[in-house]
Amino acid sequence: MTESSLTTSLASTSLWRNLRVLIVTSCTGEKRFKPTSQLTLEDFKDLARLQFRSNELAEFACLASQMYTGLQHLRLMEGVELLRQSCGKKAVDLLILSAGYGLIPENQMIVPYEVTFNIMKGPEIDEWAEFLEVHQAFEKAIVGYDLVFLLLGEKYLRSLRLPVETQTEQTLIFLASKTSASYVRHLTAKTFVVTLSNLEAKHYRYGLVGLKGFLLKRFAESVSTEAELLHRVYEKPEVFTQSLERIPTKLELPEVTVNSIHEKKVGNNSKEDKFIPIPDLPPSPNIHLGMQYFIPEWDDRVDPGYDFLKDVSTPNRNLYENDVYAHEIFTIPNYDGILVSKVVVEDSKTKKAKINEIGIHKFIHFQGSVMGDCGAFGYFKEEVPPYNTEEILDYYDSLGFNYGVSIDHLIVGQFSEPGIRETRYSLTIKNAEDFIQKHRIGGYNFTPIGAVQGWNPESYAKAVKAYIDMGYEYIALGGLARTPSKQIIEILKEIHPYLTSRTRLHLFGIARINAIPAFRHLGVTSFDSASPLRGAWLDPKANYYTLSGKKHAAVRIPFVDKYSIRIKHLLNNGFSRDDLLLLEQKAIQSLRKFDIGNLSIDETLQLLLAYDELLELPRDGKVDPKAKERRQKLHKVMYRELLQDKPWKYCDCKICQIIGVEAVIFRGNDRNRRRGFHNTYVFYKQFQEFLQSEKQHEH
Ligand SMILES: [Zn+2]
Repeated sequence: MTESSLTTSLASTSLWRNLRVLIVTSCTGEKRFKPTSQLTLEDFKDLARLQFRSNELAEFACLASQMYTGLQHLRLMEGVELLRQSCGKKAVDLLILSAGYGLIPENQMIVPYEVTFNIMKGPEIDEWAEFLEVHQAFEKAIVGYDLVFLLLGEKYLRSLRLPVETQTEQTLIFLASKTSASYVRHLTAKTFVVTLSNLEAKHYRYGLVGLKGFLLKRFAESVSTEAELLHRVYEKPEVFTQSLERIPTKLELPEVTVNSIHEKKVGNNSKEDKFIPIPDLPPSPNIHLGMQYFIPEWDDRVDPGYDFLKDVSTPNRNLYENDVYAHEIFTIPNYDGILVSKVVVEDSKTKKAKINEIGIHKFIHFQGSVMGDCGAFGYFKEEVPPYNTEEILDYYDSLGFNYGVSIDHLIVGQFSEPGIRETRYSLTIKNAEDFIQKHRIGGYNFTPIGAVQGWNPESYAKAVKAYIDMGYEYIALGGLARTPSKQIIEILKEIHPYLTSRTRLHLFGIARINAIPAFRHLGVTSFDSASPLRGAWLDPKANYYTLSGKKHAAVRIPFVDKYSIRIKHLLNNGFSRDDLLLLEQKAIQSLRKFDIGNLSIDETLQLLLAYDELLELPRDGKVDPKAKERRQKLHKVMYRELLQDKPWKYCDCKICQIIGVEAVIFRGNDRNRRRGFHNTYVFYKQFQEFLQSEKQHEH
């Protein structure tokens, strides 16, 4: 920011600091709690009965701002938070129009209820709204506010029974559907209606269901980068719509906040992950220990001198010595620690010898925490693990690991049958006991971690309890990488009573941003997963992450000269190498030209697809024409979206800053793994922002 623009925005700060903003939103059907005995319409009709029933439901009581978990509400709350960050906590007030409680402030304690205007007929709405005194409450509530935003669906808007008394110096902005715009009438205040339909949902690329909240959030993002905006909208409400067109670059709130918890909904057209609700248990006693992300290591290095324009590697480079890890590219690592499995250490003789010589930290060029485990997935088919406790203790110790995990045996697939599972379970527990005893006697420096396996909540919990009794202060749950989050939650709930304020709890192989709030609440203090990294080349569609939660597909432009099965097939079928090379180069060049603004989206897309349409993988030597058509259709849509959004231009990570558009080309280790580094950056940032937002909520 230049000095002069700083002065301007400071000057206007004092202007809009006095601007009072009110937001009125509707209640949503999705709520944080859904007890079967929630309040119904009948309960709201009689005050004594309402009180009695509310007491019955007291355990589900929470602030109105936190009760609703529908998309509109979640996005809106993120917007409100942002506005408060920009304009001060008191600058914005929020009221919720509840079909049960009437018009209520966000900080009112309420219990779950199931009443909505949406299923009532016109006269019913009028009658019930009159009982709730919605009209009078609204008229009274807006007095003294300069700028009022209303995010109400048709039936909620009807319940206001406009007009109400307003002032000429007030500005009211309605976000409403086309059909409901007619309810907005005869207001003295400056009035502006932003009409929303499927067309707008498509334009803003957000589902109609939560669109009002999403747009308010988007507006708040613009306010956070342009201080005068709020005042300009107050003067000229049309500016509101214009402000939505700007693509926010910074200060974007993550989709993950502690409030972003809502139930799974089928058929929702929004692209984001659905949040797992936080179970109704007190926070785990170890919550003060924080939460850490470990990345599993698997030779995730790139050539630092790779020439992207010529597509050539550094000549004569030594893979171990010249290549760099993500943490050598980023100033701050995108993880709190690294997990190295014994099977990975030993996957080549040279590597094993090198690590034995210089130790684990030096080998991976990382001075932070390194956790070691045996990599149970490497031997799960064996009857017993191929290691014994003494050798493992020495291994961790001599290589300098900070944490070492006891020897476990996976209980998965055919090995989770009754009879086999019990054997593996007791063996894992016995190993853990042996491990901590010998660790104590041997006076080792690393922290021992007891690995737990199990097949249901009870078996996991029983082992955790036993480990705590053995003296473990760090316990890791294994075998859950493919288990649905809901089942993991059930296991964690069962473990919850045994955790102490000193117990650390690790989840192996799980990084699900949508479950992190719930996991953390239930006592998970660390987890590891390579999926953001490896998704960059293993996920066919969602392989480039963005902070908004949206994931893009990188453009596949495989090397003609690195014979892949696709290229081989084409050459065998009469395509000339020169023709293919031309298509390949044109595709790459088109992206680079597009990047600097020298080629339109359509022209670029045409050149990308000209190469891409040849690339459907043959089965038994032949390409299925239907599969080919599917691929073309899909890629056309995905690549267009990528070109429209240009996410690499808005990412502030080191990778995108340095290699730009090359990061969204699916092509070889040096681009794909770098894109994985970018994904890890995005994931870790979302995770950090969640921890941050949690802190803010505590205060
Ligand atoms: Zn990036």
